[in-house]
Amino acid sequence: MSVITLESAIGVKMIIDKKEWRLPKPVSNRPGYDMEYYRVYLGNYFGNMNIKKFLDNEKLYDSLLIMRKEESPIQWELRVKTTLQSLLSQKEYSIYHTFCLFAGYGEVEFDKSYHEYYRSKIHKNNLAICFRCWKPFQVNEIKPTKSYHHVWHKFIELIEVKDMMQRHWDQECSDPLSDLGRARVKQQAFDKFKENDPIGVYCNKLRPSLNKYQDSVRDEPHSSTPNILFISSRYAKQPKGTALRLRDGTVIMISN
Ligand SMILES: [Zn+2]
Repeated sequence: MSVITLESAIGVKMIIDKKEWRLPKPVSNRPGYDMEYYRVYLGNYFGNMNIKKFLDNEKLYDSLLIMRKEESPIQWELRVKTTLQSLLSQKEYSIYHTFCLFAGYGEVEFDKSYHEYYRSKIHKNNLAICFRCWKPFQVNEIKPTKSYHHVWHKFIELIEVKDMMQRHWDQECSDPLSDLGRARVKQQAFDKFKENDPIGVYCNKLRPSLNKYQDSVRDEPHSSTPNILFISSRYAKQPKGTALRLRDGTVIMISN
């Protein structure tokens, strides 16, 4: 039997189903926050996982989640960022702090054993530090989504860790993991590039891909100035001064 790693447990979704006896009953709408849920879930479905390692990692991350008095969110981020980066680079993952470090308050009882450990309370301002852009942000409130469970043949309610990141990824993050967020970052980079390109170097470089747009402009009855090419009368049958219009709107002028 293969050993179940901590990494494979990270994607565990919180399933809310009061009738399903195999599932623990969560008390919080935050995956991973509810230690009791994870203890029971991992015990049921990840029986041979290294439970001590799981708890050690959670404690490591939890040791950073308290914002000190008089500390601003940015100062908190600067204080914990290097430690977080080193944990992530060594693949020492936390199940609760999967994509960000959630702010907490109160006491964290690090001396407690696996069955007694509870993390500190969630900070009222819902603040967190994103592991992608390393900026503090406010976590969005989440509601469970309905999903069909193919083994149980019924609809269940689910909460995934990434649900809490959705708004930040979509609207703010500079290195998001959501499709909408990625599209926004691309668009912003493109807009910025255009702003810094007043002489239109970019447009000249990409002329072929812009032809479609130019053609559509030319097709309009009152389009702007057409492209004009001048050809010497020595190379044309038509007399000097003749103007020929091509189908794409380009005008060929026979000159001297
Ligand atoms: Zn971010």
